[in-house]
Amino acid sequence: MYRIPHLDLPPLNTVSGRVRLPGSKSISNRVLLLAGLAAGTTEVHDLLDSDDTQVMLAALAALGCGLQRDGRVLRVSGLGGQLQAHRAELFLGNAGTAMRPLAATLAVLAATQGGDFTLSGVPRMHERPIGDLVDALRPLGCRIEALGRPGYPPLRLQGEAGGRLATAAPIRVRGDVSSQFLTALLLALPLASAEGALTIEVEGALISKPYIEITLALLARFGILVQRQDWQRFVIPRGSAYRSPGSLHVEGDASSASYFIAAGAIAAQGGAPLRIEGVGSDSIQGDIRFIDAALAMGARIQSGPGWVEVHRGRWPLAPITLDCTAIPDAAMTLAMMALYADGPSRLDGIASWRVKETDRIAAMATELRKLGAAVDEGPDSIAITPPPADGWRAAALATYDDHRMAMCASLAAFNGLAAGRRGPGCAVRILDPQCVGKTFPDYFEALFAVAGAAPHDVPVITVDGPTASGKGTLAAALATALGWQLLDSGALYRAAGLAAQWDGVSPDDEAGVARLAGLLDLRFGDGLEAGRTWLRGREITEALRLESTGLLASRVSALPAVRRALHGLQLAFRRVPGLVADGRDMGTVVFPDAALKVFLTASPGQRAERRYKQLISKGISANIDSLRADLEARDARDANRSVAPCRPAEDALLLDNSALGIEQSVQQVLDWWEQRRPFPA
Ligand code: C5P
Repeated sequence: MYRIPHLDLPPLNTVSGRVRLPGSKSISNRVLLLAGLAAGTTEVHDLLDSDDTQVMLAALAALGCGLQRDGRVLRVSGLGGQLQAHRAELFLGNAGTAMRPLAATLAVLAATQGGDFTLSGVPRMHERPIGDLVDALRPLGCRIEALGRPGYPPLRLQGEAGGRLATAAPIRVRGDVSSQFLTALLLALPLASAEGALTIEVEGALISKPYIEITLALLARFGILVQRQDWQRFVIPRGSAYRSPGSLHVEGDASSASYFIAAGAIAAQGGAPLRIEGVGSDSIQGDIRFIDAALAMGARIQSGPGWVEVHRGRWPLAPITLDCTAIPDAAMTLAMMALYADGPSRLDGIASWRVKETDRIAAMATELRKLGAAVDEGPDSIAITPPPADGWRAAALATYDDHRMAMCASLAAFNGLAAGRRGPGCAVRILDPQCVGKTFPDYFEALFAVAGAAPHDVPVITVDGPTASGKGTLAAALATALGWQLLDSGALYRAAGLAAQWDGVSPDDEAGVARLAGLLDLRFGDGLEAGRTWLRGREITEALRLESTGLLASRVSALPAVRRALHGLQLAFRRVPGLVADGRDMGTVVFPDAALKVFLTASPGQRAERRYKQLISKGISANIDSLRADLEARDARDANRSVAPCRPAEDALLLDNSALGIEQSVQQVLDWWEQRRPFPA
C-alpha cells in the first residue's frame, strides 16, 4: 500500500465537535485471544481494526479459529482449548499485545498437545524483550528457543502430545519490565489448570497495574475467576476453562482518547466543548485516569458512561510533576501538553517507554527539542521546559514507526496558541504519518474533522486548465499524496447543470440556475464511499461524468450569477490540513492567495485521445474527431466568456503534460511544492 512520506499540518487554533474513538487495542487483542481459546462462538462488537489486531486475527485464523465479519460485529468460533493446527509460522508485526500472550499460549499448548510454532515480527519486535516471560515458562516444562538473540523474538515453541507441565510450584515472573508478561501468563495458564490450581508470583514492583486489571476483568467475562493477593500473587483455580460470554462489546481506546482530551484542553475555546465518544467514566482501561492528569493541568472535563467532554480551562496549562507508572501510554500525551504550560513539567516512572515501539524517552526528547523545548532525559523520567514564546520552530517530526509518536506530534500544531505568542504559528511536518495504523488508522481524519485553522493558514494548491487536460487525475493524486482535501469544482457546475435539467430549468435561465446552484444539496462520499457523489440524496456518480453533463456545465458556468452562487461552497472546501482545488478559475478567482498555482495544458490532439481512451475503457462508444471538435468548442467558450475565463493566473506555473505520465506530473508539482515549503530535516 502507498504510504505518504509526510503530512504537513498548518497551525491549528480550534477544536470542536464530536469524535468517535476506535476500539481499545488492549481489550481487542485480549478478547480475540480469549474468544479464540474458548468453547463456542463469541460475537465481538466494535473490535478495533488496525495493524495490531490484524496480526492477531491472522494468527487465530492460522490456528484454526473460525472468523466471520458482519459489519461492526466479528464472530469468533473458538478452539475450546484444543489445537486444530499443530504447526504454524506466525508473523506478529510490532504487536506486543499479540506476541507475548501468543508466545505463552502456544508454549503451553505445544507442551501438552504437541506442536511446532514460530513467532516473529518486524525488526523492532525482535529488539523488544521477552526473556522474562520465557524464563517464567521454561520451569513448567515448555520448550522455547530464541531463534535470534537470547531473550528476544523470534521464538520457536515445540512439544509432544501428551506432555505434562510442572504446575505445582509457583510460577515466578518479573513485573517491572512489562506487565504484558504477567498478562500473557494469566491468559495462557488456565490451559494448564486441569490438575490443580496454579500460582503466579510477581518479582519486583508490578508496573502498569491497570493493564492487569483489564486482563482480570476480561478473564472473568470468559468464566475464569483469578484470585489476586495484593499485586504479588495470582491464583488460577483448578479446572479453569474459557467459556464464551456469547457477545461482548469493545469500548473505545482510552489511550487514543488522550490526544483529543489534550486537544480540547489546549484549543476547545468558547461555547462548545470537544465531545469524545466510545469511552468514559465507566471504562475498565487504566488510561482513562489520564483525565485526572489533564484536570491537574487545568482542563475542564466532564464525563459519563461512554463519553468525555473537554473545554480549555486554565491557560496557559499548569505544569505537572507526576509518577506515570499507572498511565505509561497516555503519559506521552502529557509530554506534549507540557509544551503549553507556563513552567517546566516532569514525568517519572516511565522506564517502560524504553522498550515500547521505540525508545520513547529518547524519541520524545529528540523531537521536543526540534520544536524549541528544553528537555532533560533520565533513565525513567523526562523533564520538559516549554519553548519560550518566540522560540517555537517549524519542525519535521520523526515518528520512529511508533503510532503514539505520530499522534503526539499532531498536538504541536496548536503552537500558535502557546502562551505569549505573537504572530503566526508554525506548521508541523509529521514523517510517516500512517504509522498510526497500529491502533488508530483514521486518526488524522478524525483530528481534521474537529480541528480548525485560520483560513489563510490552510494552504491551497490550485490546478487549472482546459477540458481533458488531466487536471482531475492530477489533483486527486496530489490530494492523496499530501493527505489533503480535494475540490473538483467542475463537479459543482456539473451538478448545477443536472439540477437544472431535473427541474426543467433552461441552462440559459441565469436566475433560475443560480437559485438551484445556491441550494445544491450535494454530498461527496468519503472513506469507503470515496469517489461517489449524491445530489438531493440520489447518486449521480455516473451521470456527473457524462459528456452531455460536461457540456451542460460549460453552459451554466458562463452565467455570472451561477458562479457567484457557487463561490461560498467552494471556499468552504478550504479545510485543514490543506486543499487541492481543480477547475478553470481556482488560481485566478476563487483562491487568489493559493500557495502554489499550476496551469495544466496538453495539445488538443492529446486531450482528445485521452478522453477517447477513457470513454472506450468504460464501454462508451466515441468518435475521436467529434470529441476533439467538442473540446475545442468548450475551450473557446471557457476562455472567451466574460466571467472567470479559463486562463493561467499571473503567478501560475505552466505544466504541459502532453508527453508526461501521471506520476511524472504529480512528482513535478510535489517538487514545486517542496521548494516552497522548506522544512528542516
Ligand atoms: O472540469 P470539468 O470538465 O468537470 O468542468 C465542467 C465544466 O465546468 C467546464 O467545461 C467549465 O465550463 C466549467 N467549469 C468552470 N469553472 C471551474 C470548473 C469548471 O467554469 N472552476
